[in-house]
Amino acid sequence: MSREHLAYLKELGVDCYVPREPPPAPAQARVSTGAREVALMDWETLQRTVAGCTLCGLEKTRTQTVFGVGNKQAQWLVIGEAPGADEDAQGEPFVGRAGQLLNSMLKAIGLERSQVYIANILKCRPPSNREPKPEEAALCTPYLDRQIQLIQPRIILAVGRIAAQNLLQTDTPIGRMRGKLYSYGARQIPVVVTYHPAYLLRSPGEKRKAWTDLQFAQEVLRRGDRPQ
Ligand code: URA
Repeated sequence: MSREHLAYLKELGVDCYVPREPPPAPAQARVSTGAREVALMDWETLQRTVAGCTLCGLEKTRTQTVFGVGNKQAQWLVIGEAPGADEDAQGEPFVGRAGQLLNSMLKAIGLERSQVYIANILKCRPPSNREPKPEEAALCTPYLDRQIQLIQPRIILAVGRIAAQNLLQTDTPIGRMRGKLYSYGARQIPVVVTYHPAYLLRSPGEKRKAWTDLQFAQEVLRRGDRPQ
């Protein structure tokens, strides 16, 4: 779609899914070398490789990597941004205050934390909880891709802008991604986007919207909807 066409659609208030520019060549070249090997790894090898990863430099400041947790045969895969201080200390995603709220969100749709799988875009905590840099996300993505291939979830819930934008390779604001069905990868796994629990802690008035998103995701799974 041309820029001009996009501008018209924007003017009309039509939301468009705009793929991002690919990451800069050097990062991509580095990713593609390791990524081919990562794409063939079993769980154990993958976990060991992540634990020893030094690709992006965040190993200098991390306490430990945060691989992911939960049911490896889960129907639901929850993807967040990156470990925070609590996760870096404990080696498990979503264990701090945002994690408590995530657990409640899951319970609201009848899911125990142990029933789903939870992972992040980045396996290491960025210093001072800054946003992941695009090159960090690009280097870490093959690990998440492999986790998704191994789990083969029936639905992915992307929590927060960073998770959604990186997973779907778009710059679309999160508010416009909510309530739409996206798809991930060749298997076209349905992806639903909602707010990050840390944001909901700061803006409790938005919790109702997250509840709507969760119900939407539940409905997608129940009906077996496929993205267009
Ligand atoms: N926020 C995230 O996005 N992931 C975590 O694991 C913890 C907080």
